[in-house]
Amino acid sequence: MPEPLKLVVIEDEAPIRKFLRASFSEEDASIYEATTGEDGIRAVAHRNPTIVLLDLGLPDIDGLEVVRRLREWTQVPIIVISARGKEQDKVSALDLGADDYLTKPFSIGELMARVRVALRHAKRDDLEAPPTIEIGDLKIDLGARIVTLTGQEVRLTAIEYKLLAILARHSGKVITQKQMLNEVWGPAYEDSTHTLRVHMANLRQKIEPEPTQTKFIRTETGVGYRLMESE
Ligand code: CA
Repeated sequence: MPEPLKLVVIEDEAPIRKFLRASFSEEDASIYEATTGEDGIRAVAHRNPTIVLLDLGLPDIDGLEVVRRLREWTQVPIIVISARGKEQDKVSALDLGADDYLTKPFSIGELMARVRVALRHAKRDDLEAPPTIEIGDLKIDLGARIVTLTGQEVRLTAIEYKLLAILARHSGKVITQKQMLNEVWGPAYEDSTHTLRVHMANLRQKIEPEPTQTKFIRTETGVGYRLMESE
């Protein structure tokens, strides 16, 4: 990673903190470890970190409350760490403005991939988002609104294009069902997950060369979708 990282880790479990410390030992990183939500919020305010890793199950206040309070004044990337089976908590954290999540247990590879994507999106000004996203054979030209697969234009409906464009603007990051419904259909349709699934299935049929083996769009079960990035 190019610049020195300043992390605030908010996590009450010592083994996870140890794992995180070890994961970043090769990087030029400084890590502040908070074991409670209140201490974590104070640390973010005083240390101005480049990224926050936040456990949702904390001894004092709920991790979701930490996300809510941080988002009142900072856009620092927040990656939540959640226990398996707590899908609703992850979704709530993302809807409150967290950037991504990791489910315990996670590997160093997953951790670093999430951190890289979050940092890149944080640095990129929305106005200067790259107009063309290329993932393998798939090319999404957000300026011209043209999608091609191995050089052939893919005919998408207006809704399919909008869904793909949202994922492309946030490539590598998970987008919740609610966020997608909200952006394409508006807040009144936040619960229309069936409609979303139908349109996503149609979109996939057009862009995934192998329908049973999704290459570009990954479903994050119970959470949303993620546009994969080229390695
Ligand atoms: Ca915990």
